[in-house]
Amino acid sequence: MIGMDLIYLDNNASTMMDPRVCQAMLPWLGEGYANPSSIHYFGQQARHAVETAREQVAAAIGARPRQIIFTSGGTEANNLAIQGTLAAQPDKRHLVTTAVEHESVLAPLRRLERRGYSLTCVGVDRQGRIDPGEFEAALTDRTALASVMHANNETGVIFPIETLGQITRQRGIPLHVDATQTVGKLPIDVTRLPVELLSMSAHKFHGPKGVGALCVRPGLYLEPELVGGHQEHGLRAGTENVAGIVGLGSAISLAVEHLEEDAAVVRRLRDRLEAGILDRVPAASIIGDRRQRLANTSTVAFESIQAEAILMLLSNAGVCASSGAACSSGSLEPSHVLLAMSVAASLAHGAVRFSLSRFTTQPEVERAIEVVAQTIDRLRSLQPLGQSPPAPLTM
Ligand code: PMP
Repeated sequence: MIGMDLIYLDNNASTMMDPRVCQAMLPWLGEGYANPSSIHYFGQQARHAVETAREQVAAAIGARPRQIIFTSGGTEANNLAIQGTLAAQPDKRHLVTTAVEHESVLAPLRRLERRGYSLTCVGVDRQGRIDPGEFEAALTDRTALASVMHANNETGVIFPIETLGQITRQRGIPLHVDATQTVGKLPIDVTRLPVELLSMSAHKFHGPKGVGALCVRPGLYLEPELVGGHQEHGLRAGTENVAGIVGLGSAISLAVEHLEEDAAVVRRLRDRLEAGILDRVPAASIIGDRRQRLANTSTVAFESIQAEAILMLLSNAGVCASSGAACSSGSLEPSHVLLAMSVAASLAHGAVRFSLSRFTTQPEVERAIEVVAQTIDRLRSLQPLGQSPPAPLTM
């Protein structure tokens, strides 16, 4: 189905499943089909598998198993965190977030805005950084929840969650952190991070799609979004995705096992990719704060070229990358993240995200540099620099 020669540099969109994760899941897609809620021995085996995975997820982030609620992924975890915390504080009608969140945070917040909540979106600077002072100033006595991502999926820029959490803690405001892009990539210890809710998704760290988790601080009241069953302590009804949950547990254990070493290797490869591209391609620049950035992520802006054209030619040559969020591929509008960073239109239109993983190899990176350089050369020979103003920015 998928060519063996592919160079997959789109790991922030999704990752290859680790073959060991597939192996761990297989019995639960085959002979282990019982319902974990069934009393019989067969069902209790499935229950045991689910609870073992809960222990693995908890151990990987310094939580207790009871804090973990399995969901269908990052999107559901974010929706549950946002919607679920509001019921306990009906008199508080203000929400705080940032302008660069993933749609699965922004959309539920905007829906609440339409239903009468007020919403403050804290901006970022040109490097994609948040100012903690500005964040603090956005909080009021009526703020029910703040929701801030740990690292941005498009630029990889890491937010200072510890500092922001100290601010929200002092004000008694729950903080939700969308850690979908950081779990399995950055060390996370919820006993040390002052956050109340933390979302993750297995397919971002070599686990299966369609499964994730929300970690909830003990004592925080959460209202379920999905009702109709007692599963997940009554916080997420529905028969558990046993195979997926087993895959999540296995993937997170493997990801944290050699996290620092893997990140160091990935960082070296990413830095080589950037250096190679910048060396070979004129009028290319890196978007986002280079000091506080995920080791695997690089967004490179190629001046005055449309990212879609670049991505298509790269794809033809076997290199998979993205422009901004995967869901915005195919649209000519630059992402809301680049707009929030005030990236110039001539750069934003040509921004390509390369995201690596622990499975990326040095030869792949060298080949990708070559392909990128040839691709940009080719496009620029059709439309030399400065001769083709890109389409105007639309909001
Ligand atoms: N948040 C962020 C930051 C993401 O990158 C993604 C995935 N693109 C999500 C949430 C949604 O996760 P899922 O695909 O598991 O629903």
